[in-house]
Amino acid sequence: MTSLDYINNKFDVIVVGAGHAGCEAAISAARLGCNVLLCTLNVDNIALQPCNPAIGGPAKSTLVREIDALGGVMGEVADATYIQMKTLNSSKGPAVRALRAQSDKKEYTRYMRNIIENTDNIWVKQTCITDIKVKDGQIIGAVDEYGLEYICRAIILTTGTSLEGKMYVGLQAYSGGRLGERAAIGLSQSLREHGIVTKKLKTGTPARVDKRTIDYSKMTVQPGDDKLSFYSFKPNRPVRQQYPCYLTRTNEETHSIIRANLDKSPMYQGLIHGVGPRYCPSIEDKIVRFASNPSHHIFIEPEGLNTYEVYIQGFSTSLPACVQVEMLRSLPGLEKAHIIKPAYAVEYDYVPAVQTLHSLMSKDIKGLFFAGQINGTSGYEEAAAQGLVAGINSVNYINGSEPLELSRASSYTGTLIDDLVTKDIQEPYRMLTSRSEYRLLLRQDNADERLTEIGHKIGLIDDAQYQRFLDKQENIQKEIVRLQETKLPATGGVNEVLAKYGEHIENGIRLGEFLKRPNITYDVFKEVDERVSLEEKMSENLSQDIIDEVEVKVKYNGYIKRQLEQVETSEKLEKYRIPANIDYSKIKHISTETKEKLEKIRPTNLAQASRIGGVKPADISVLMVMLGK
Ligand SMILES: Cc1cc2nc3c(=O)[nH]c(=O)nc-3n(C[C@H](O)[C@H](O)[C@H](O)COP(=O)(O)OP(=O)(O)OC[C@H]3O[C@@H](n4cnc5c(N)ncnc54)[C@H](O)[C@@H]3O)c2cc1C
Repeated sequence: MTSLDYINNKFDVIVVGAGHAGCEAAISAARLGCNVLLCTLNVDNIALQPCNPAIGGPAKSTLVREIDALGGVMGEVADATYIQMKTLNSSKGPAVRALRAQSDKKEYTRYMRNIIENTDNIWVKQTCITDIKVKDGQIIGAVDEYGLEYICRAIILTTGTSLEGKMYVGLQAYSGGRLGERAAIGLSQSLREHGIVTKKLKTGTPARVDKRTIDYSKMTVQPGDDKLSFYSFKPNRPVRQQYPCYLTRTNEETHSIIRANLDKSPMYQGLIHGVGPRYCPSIEDKIVRFASNPSHHIFIEPEGLNTYEVYIQGFSTSLPACVQVEMLRSLPGLEKAHIIKPAYAVEYDYVPAVQTLHSLMSKDIKGLFFAGQINGTSGYEEAAAQGLVAGINSVNYINGSEPLELSRASSYTGTLIDDLVTKDIQEPYRMLTSRSEYRLLLRQDNADERLTEIGHKIGLIDDAQYQRFLDKQENIQKEIVRLQETKLPATGGVNEVLAKYGEHIENGIRLGEFLKRPNITYDVFKEVDERVSLEEKMSENLSQDIIDEVEVKVKYNGYIKRQLEQVETSEKLEKYRIPANIDYSKIKHISTETKEKLEKIRPTNLAQASRIGGVKPADISVLMVMLGK
């Protein structure tokens, strides 16, 4: 196709939705040479954060680093627009350490829009896509609300909470996908007419309050980190001024108000049937489910530098607006709170992802891809990771190349997609470290080691960034060897430093061995250096990210080796491919229930089959024999 095909409404790829999934999908497909039409209900809401104005947190931060390592943009945008950076769980193990960037919400959308507008081959359009066009099981185009027809070879649906969206403030219901944006009507019906099953999910968001009506002196201040970390592996990330968040707590009065008004909740009145996010429950859910808990943390987070709006994290609700005022004003520091935007819940259509392949393409309609909340996930980072994979695979599909299928051992992105397509998820899926069996291998610090090679091969990581990556890996290896070879002497000065950490050495000890001790970090070597001569120097002048990675690799070497062995075992099962046309009904010695599950998911290999809920090791043995292996 040529870049002038837009005149005839002809595109390689149509991306429906310019949220976190849609932006990554459109940018990656365009950078890989495709002509992309990017449709959205409102161009001023590109990459909007309709819930908390923050990127990252446990497991999610690893997804952002993975996106960056593969050549996506979320990390770069979060780095450029943060108003606070914080590493969570910094005193805990490396598998759960997580970066979190509080964003300036408006700047975030502006920055992303700027990237999109400066990417060749992306054509942005404000319209609602209402129909997909399919011929001989293959996508050929789409139709919008004005009846305009578009020709394309692939479509990526990233519709978020918009499909048939219905918002609730108390028992009042409105059509809409998120506050201030209409619902997308028509597309769900079109999907169903093409045999795609849709179901309902629900999510919710708290009120936004005017910061001038908050008494912060009654709250605990939550500052950002002094020692800054960033998402992107690219150099020269911007150092910006940071702003604090605050912490307050619910109390008995808050809980009584909520309990007294549960009859006004659309959830408790049965108006909403969709399942909500288990890991981001509404405040009324928390009060009911954890009735014995006398108080819940509530974080007060700025939405940006040029706005009075602040986000009340942990206080999501669908109770009526008048009750919301009462609830909020019972919190210390919020006694005079003025609500700018009410909290609300939204129920929307999603497409259970058991209908898609690991490439995120539909099993039944070639060229139709799904990414983000439409696949049943919740969260910006989960959406962006899928968007990137769908964008790359739409190009692979058009070019007739092998799809990018990331394994569980390679990434949280691979784990997320495998869970979605294998586990028939019935509630909003959020990435958690506990979802990975290899979480010590899948850390935020080594996302580049796991994925940069792939990003470079695909063509989204340029040569300069790839060379920086290779140099970093070389320096890490060199330092590990140096630690194995260099001895820490047991001189008086050294033991004086070690005594501060409850340590003592009689004889010299190799640095690598010594670093394995729980209280010892690389910083101790730097301290020792202040006591010894230059020739006896124990530390090297390395960047913090290299030090962090070296420390983890040395300290957790034994665990890492064990997880690598597990990966090897699982990879053996992955090699047993299951033919797409297998007839499960004809297989003996497997229960009818298991056959139905296998038929529904249609796993591509034995490893995936073994992860389907209810499929037993004995079933895998039967399949193995049947496959003649
Ligand atoms: C009320 C609310 C509460 C939330 N709560 C949480 C939470 O607690 N925790 C959490 O992690 N996440 C939460 N989220 C979810 C988070 O916002 C999403 O997970 C994330 O934004 C999903 O990204 P996405 O790209 O899939 O969709 P979105 O970011 O929602 O983007 C969807 C895009 O699709 C466009 N679109 C939709 N249909 C059409 C169509 N037919 N034609 C053209 N354009 C279309 C929209 O205009 C929009 O640009 C919440 C979202 C909302 C709205």
